[in-house]
Parts: sequence; C-alpha cells; structure tokens
Amino acid sequence: MNAALDYLTNFDPSNWLEVSLRGIFAYLFVVLVAIVIWVARDAVARSKSLLFQVFSILLVITLNLPGLLIYLIVRPQKTLVDKYHETLEQRVLAESEETCPKCDRLLPLNFQFCPSCGEEARRPCKKCHKLVSKSWSVCPYCGAKKSTQKKVETVSAKA
Ligand SMILES: [Zn+2]
Ligand SMILES: [Zn+2]
Repeated sequence: MNAALDYLTNFDPSNWLEVSLRGIFAYLFVVLVAIVIWVARDAVARSKSLLFQVFSILLVITLNLPGLLIYLIVRPQKTLVDKYHETLEQRVLAESEETCPKCDRLLPLNFQFCPSCGEEARRPCKKCHKLVSKSWSVCPYCGAKKSTQKKVETVSAKA
C-alpha cells in the first residue's frame, strides 16, 4: 500500500515528460496517418494520374503539414465527378443551345437575333428556311451549303 502511494506521489518528472512526449508522438502519428489517407482519397478523386497520386502521398508523408498545404495549393480544383458533370452539361448545352457571337448570351434554337444585343446570330437557310447558325458552313437540316464565298467576292469587288 505504501509502495503504491510512494509511486504515485514521488514520481520522476523526467518520466512524465517521456510519457507525455510519447503520447504526443502517438497522437501526431495518428493525425499524419489520417491526413495521408485523406490526401490519397482526395488525389484519386481529382486525378487519374498515378504519378500525381503517388507524388501527393509522398509529399504529405515527407513534409507532413507543410506538405498538406502544398497539396491543397497544387491539387486540381475540380474532382473527376465535377469534371464529368461539367462536360456532360457542356455537351447538352452545345446540342440544344448556342451562345451569341457578340455578347455570349445563351440563345434558344429558334432565336434569329440575340435579345440582349440585337446581333443576328442565325440566318434562315435559303433552301429549307430553317434558322442556321452563322458560324456553320452547311445547313444541318437540308445539307445546303451556305454561300460565304459570295460575301468575300462582293467585299473585294467594292475594294
Ligand atoms: Zn448578344
Ligand atoms: Zn436548309
């Protein structure tokens, strides 16, 4: 009984220091492992490149917190899922709508003029009279070629 009391009251302070240091190291190790796991998952979600994934993990293992900071700066802004949704969105937009060549406003397919700036974005096809974007050289509905060469000729004739 006295021995136990002695042990609790007359402890060696250097021992306590060692114990707490070990505790801190154990804690830091767990935090580091958690960070490495998080970075590994994040890197896989953001890049298909194995080199980038390995580099990110090594960066955090060797530099720890500064490495995490560097990783957060250099990692791709968007995850692969974000990128997939974005390209899907862009594809849908490209198929259904077009932007005004002057002010970049989205124009529904049946608009000839931009409602914002008044720019003529589409012209009726000479053959089938459907609205065809000015940037297209062939009517997508009937295949008629647009006479863009004539314009150049008239301009050069004037000059
Ligand atoms: Zn416009
Ligand atoms: Zn046509």
